[in-house]
Amino acid sequence: MKIIKKKSLGQNFLRDEGVLDKIISAGELSSKDNVLEIGPGEGALTSKLLEKVDKVVAVEKDSRLEDAGSVLQNVQTDNKNLKIYFEDILDVNFPKILKKNSFDKKGYKVIANIPYYITGKIIRLLFEQETKPELIVLLVQKEVAERICALKGRESILSLSVKYFAQPEIVDYVSREVFEPVPKVDSAILKIIPFKNGTRKAGLLERSDSGVKSPAFSELTNEQDFFKLVKVGFSSPRKVLINNLKNGLQLDRSSLEQIFKKLQLNPTIRAEKLTLHQWQSLAEEIF
Ligand code: SAM
Repeated sequence: MKIIKKKSLGQNFLRDEGVLDKIISAGELSSKDNVLEIGPGEGALTSKLLEKVDKVVAVEKDSRLEDAGSVLQNVQTDNKNLKIYFEDILDVNFPKILKKNSFDKKGYKVIANIPYYITGKIIRLLFEQETKPELIVLLVQKEVAERICALKGRESILSLSVKYFAQPEIVDYVSREVFEPVPKVDSAILKIIPFKNGTRKAGLLERSDSGVKSPAFSELTNEQDFFKLVKVGFSSPRKVLINNLKNGLQLDRSSLEQIFKKLQLNPTIRAEKLTLHQWQSLAEEIF
């Protein structure tokens, strides 16, 4: 039984084997892996995941998909390697799901074609977890993927939040034509590789596996200070950064100017132009 797709739930189902294979391959999956999928829909990706990994836990908001015959048309829902929760990913007790499926102990990857309307919230949710994913591969709106990677040389709160914990990269672009119904936007496969220990700790910026190392930072930046600074810095993104900091942190202009000078930052620079490293140095100077 086919369901009528709900635009409000971002229901654009993938209909292209090649794209599904690219997502799977970006996940660097092995038979020992555990995967969390958000929004399995009719199960096109779920069935591919089940061929590769030990266990798939999926969270799907649309309970209509639970009805026999329509849910996950592509998979056997009584598959013992699959557990589906028909709940809203933003409302579920996430740590409980991880614990119940031993993902908290064994580790897990997140591989999903997510509902685009909550991309930022999903990413935030994943990084908020005590047990963070080992790897995240998401199909997202092309522009959002580019914004997260700051490809146009413009950082944002979202890009900095991701880069604080991980290394994001675009694996490939995906045409809107491979979805049903065809959405108004193109997509990209975004791979997010969390750093070891989930955060940038003094000089320990390796990937969670033996892959690429990130540039080392000399000092540990307090996470709360860093995010407080970024939030205040972007409070009026069109204004120069120094004004946002002066108003938001009640600091006097001359001490801020001195700090900017020390860090060789132009006093008229805007928040979007600072790199993650510069934000970290700024946090270390201010707090
Ligand atoms: N994975 C399928 C595919 O690739 O064809 C479907 C992807 S579709 C873009 C997004 C899926 O997320 C839909 O099945 C939708 O019902 C589900 N969804 C929407 N909002 C959700 C939420 N808040 N929590 C969990 N699932 C949600």
